[in-house]
Amino acid sequence: MKGKSDAYKKLLERLGDVDMSSGGNFWKPPEGLSTVRILPPVGKMEYFFLEIGQHYIDNTSYMCTNICSDGADPCPLCEVNELLFRAGQKEMADRYRVSRSFWMNVIVRGEEASGPQKFTPGVTIFRSLASYVTDPDYGHITDPDEGFDVKITRKGVGISTRYETRCARNPNALSDDDDMIEEWLEKSTDIVEFVAGQMLSYEDLAEQTGVDVFLEQGDMSTLEAEADEDEPEDNGDESPSSKIEKRLSRRSGRGDTRRKRSS
Ligand SMILES: [Zn+2]
Repeated sequence: MKGKSDAYKKLLERLGDVDMSSGGNFWKPPEGLSTVRILPPVGKMEYFFLEIGQHYIDNTSYMCTNICSDGADPCPLCEVNELLFRAGQKEMADRYRVSRSFWMNVIVRGEEASGPQKFTPGVTIFRSLASYVTDPDYGHITDPDEGFDVKITRKGVGISTRYETRCARNPNALSDDDDMIEEWLEKSTDIVEFVAGQMLSYEDLAEQTGVDVFLEQGDMSTLEAEADEDEPEDNGDESPSSKIEKRLSRRSGRGDTRRKRSS
């Protein structure tokens, strides 16, 4: 670290809200059964969820500029991860891997007084949710009037944590009180804006994490050529379910380098 205290301070301020362990109205399923209602998208959110990538380096979480921009922008940490992996440095590569999660607003049943909370499940829970969204018997599970509560059972702790996710059998209203629904939707976090506020530029991210050194040495030209091939074309007008399926299939081709953050 060479005289970065100001930039570092700025970074910490930006990251302050994202620390998953320290509240900030993030909700994590406790052991046992929880029932939640996922809230529909608000503000700039296109869908009820936003796919997020985070790199955890020295116990600090950094937003992945590639995943959080839906593939539009490059991420120096992902590039270094790939460079090291290709160079056979798997253990070092591991340090720069990305964790994917899907951020959304929920009302936790029994904790309605807390209002909307941010829920950040990983791929396992999200895959279950996606299966309901794409199932015509369910569909719009976030609809405030005719959507479905979601039951999440958490078993175990740490790396042995297992989740079971299923939708309630019957649709129900988010609340019997229309004013309450309106208030919850107003208080929901615009996840797109929230995450945009936590993102660093490519250069800052590379510098703050010290990977700028790797990138100066690496041969990025081959990497970019291959990355372009992987990227499916976006045809603009997609239904949420086809977009979800595309995301899931895009991911399945890659080596599973994700790690569920143990709580
Ligand atoms: Zn990344």
